[in-house]
Amino acid sequence: MPGTHALLSASAAERWINCPPSARLTEKMPDTESPYAAEGTLAHSLAELKVRKKFDKMRKSEFDKRLAEIRKDPLYAPEMDGHTDTYLDYILKIAHGYNKVAPYVVAEKRLDYSAYAPGGFGTCDCVMLCKNDLHIFDFKYGKGVPVSAEENPQLKLYALGALAEYGFLYDIQSVTLHIIQPRLDSINDFLISTDALTAWGNSIRPIAELADKGEGEFKSGDWCRFCKAKATCRKRTEDFFALECSINMPKELLSDSEIGEALARAQTLKNWVTDLEEYALNAILSGTDISGWKAVEGRSNRKITDIDGAFEVLTKEGYDESLLYERKPITLTELEKLVTKKKLEELIGSMIVKPQGKPTLAPESDKRKPYKPNLEEMFGGK
Ligand code: SF4
Repeated sequence: MPGTHALLSASAAERWINCPPSARLTEKMPDTESPYAAEGTLAHSLAELKVRKKFDKMRKSEFDKRLAEIRKDPLYAPEMDGHTDTYLDYILKIAHGYNKVAPYVVAEKRLDYSAYAPGGFGTCDCVMLCKNDLHIFDFKYGKGVPVSAEENPQLKLYALGALAEYGFLYDIQSVTLHIIQPRLDSINDFLISTDALTAWGNSIRPIAELADKGEGEFKSGDWCRFCKAKATCRKRTEDFFALECSINMPKELLSDSEIGEALARAQTLKNWVTDLEEYALNAILSGTDISGWKAVEGRSNRKITDIDGAFEVLTKEGYDESLLYERKPITLTELEKLVTKKKLEELIGSMIVKPQGKPTLAPESDKRKPYKPNLEEMFGGK
């Protein structure tokens, strides 16, 4: 649909702020929506419906009709109800924190921040205003990595849009940015004053103007993961090769500090190689020649085309049915899908434990605490 996405979108803000020319470079590249994105869109519709029912006084018949439509979608799973309830409960908790004053709450609000970024607008999952406070809520349905609300540019752009829209009705002094990722059990927030927010908006205005004109310096980094040019970008490629040459190789063996440096570089190289492989395979499959490469058939496993028919033959031959089937419990994730997270907690929460995870390597910047072995788990209590 034309006009549904801004060139300088809020969700891509980290990318275009760091690499301004990426906005125009990728402007006409096709979008590829994964099934996960479609699932996220459906979860957002459900979340919006629940917020609107609570705060918009939506008629029950309309709510029921829309809920039934969502539940008919093949991507719907009962766990989606549990996760959207977590989101709604969190918004309600903040709303109830305002004693005797009912906040103004609006879901899926289109906000215009073009005063800071040319043509900039975006749709915020939920906006709440009360007294001198503005709250910006962002519901993320992915199962990837927890996203921090701290100085989050996407949410700050929404907040600037909300200030422009409601600033003359409310004397907004402070802004809280909230990110709710129920599938990762992650909810975090960040408080910022309107002065600091506006100062940030002013600081990115010249960058946004460069991005709008397709000017500025290309700069590679973490944000390349979400760039449509991530496989074909010359700057990203040059930076990877530059990295390889810049490693100060010692004569014989690497020191521990060099191992740390090489590991940090290898992590980003791994992602880059995957991006290149995906790009080349897709190109070859659609008839483009990628010099020195071809597509071949990958490994496949044998399978029985008619399990019931095959097992009937085997049981008639005298093989006991109990030997042909494995009986094993479904996983906790599957149970949550079946029963919903909330109900499962009520029913068997006391029987669910989370053993300590195996030690895994992570960069220093990782938000998780350093690993400490649980001695009681290892050797048992006294
Ligand atoms: S891949 Fe990275 S460096 Fe290249 S245009 Fe995109 S964001 Fe910029």
